[in-house]
Amino acid sequence: MKANDPKLKSWVDVPAGSDFPIQNLPFGIFKTKYLSPVAGVAIGDHILDLVYLHEHGYLDGLGLPAGIFNQKSLNEFFALGRKKVGEVRERVSEILRHDNEELRDRVAARELALIPLSECQMLMPVTVPNYTDFYSSEEHATNVGALFRDPKNALLPNWKHLPVGYHGRASSIVVSGTPIHRPRGQVKLPDAEAPVFCPSRKMDFELELAFITCVNTPLGRPVSIGEAEDHIIGFVLFNDWSARDIQQWEYVPLGPFLGKNFGSTVSPWVVTLDALAPFRAEGPKQIPHVLPYLAFEGAKNFDIQLEVLLEPAGEAMVTLSRTNAKYLYWNVAQQLVHHTVNGCNIQVGDLYASGTISGPSPGSYGSLLELTFNGQKPLHLPGGGERRFLEDGDTVIMKGHAEMDGVRIGFGPCTGKLLPAIG
Ligand code: MN
Repeated sequence: MKANDPKLKSWVDVPAGSDFPIQNLPFGIFKTKYLSPVAGVAIGDHILDLVYLHEHGYLDGLGLPAGIFNQKSLNEFFALGRKKVGEVRERVSEILRHDNEELRDRVAARELALIPLSECQMLMPVTVPNYTDFYSSEEHATNVGALFRDPKNALLPNWKHLPVGYHGRASSIVVSGTPIHRPRGQVKLPDAEAPVFCPSRKMDFELELAFITCVNTPLGRPVSIGEAEDHIIGFVLFNDWSARDIQQWEYVPLGPFLGKNFGSTVSPWVVTLDALAPFRAEGPKQIPHVLPYLAFEGAKNFDIQLEVLLEPAGEAMVTLSRTNAKYLYWNVAQQLVHHTVNGCNIQVGDLYASGTISGPSPGSYGSLLELTFNGQKPLHLPGGGERRFLEDGDTVIMKGHAEMDGVRIGFGPCTGKLLPAIG
């Protein structure tokens, strides 16, 4: 893929440390004071308006349907498939190269096509028909199993044989910047006989990566391991807000419910699998061997550095955790294959989250549940405060990027502020 060449430079200024160099070119939906929601591509501190490019002939020859970018979501565009989306990314890369004068030298056109990010509001990149959350980090599953059940048998017997997951709630997925209200619910305190109804006292985040699908499959037809990645367009960062006290009381025997479905936050830019191709990595060795339908070849993990920061109200930001997506035990191809092996169909825009990504050391845990040992060991903040779980007014910021040969493929932040319970 020419667009991934680390030597490429753009005539658009890309500040050092930007998540959006010419090698990335992620897709998103934005609006401005003057523009209704449309599709765009991030480049440095700007958005390239795809509607402008399409309507003014810059994308001629790609066979794109009229109005494909003049939409409130990327679903129809992604439904054109990975190959077509890849062709658009290649063409945008060509237009933005330092030696390409097509747009560079048309000052009036350039002013209209390139909009400063600071003047844009990012919206949900896709309409999400279905959302599934996996549980694919061995370190996270082990830590949680030890805290909620038994340190000696933290992993349940099925865990290394299948990517455990549950069906989440699509309606409450929101884009970065949307505040989340602390949920109320049933909580059973350790010494009490009966539950009480109150605002959650154990509000937490979960650091995750989610992939988005670009194919509708018919009911009854499983996706094979060989074709799985052709069904995946790219990734977003994902904060699976969790109320641990509600979760702990409700989750037996059917799993997460109201402790999870009050809100999840996604980063606004869909970073394509194509852009991440140079950052493929081997995952952990899978022992025991998986069943044949889950067996795969090649490097299917991605070396993406991840970070969680906390900004308490009126205080400076502090890093709580640093980890990497390459630690995930189950890869995205295995997740999608397992999800459909029984004939379950998938839809364009579906979101499949990894589950909390934790690394091997305490500084790399992807949730407060693990970082504070379920509130037993508070984190001390530089401003003098401490946190066992989130407090009202806290903003959680997730960041992610892959980096090699001076090229940084980033996601832009995934942020959300926790507000008090309503009522
Ligand atoms: Mn989760």
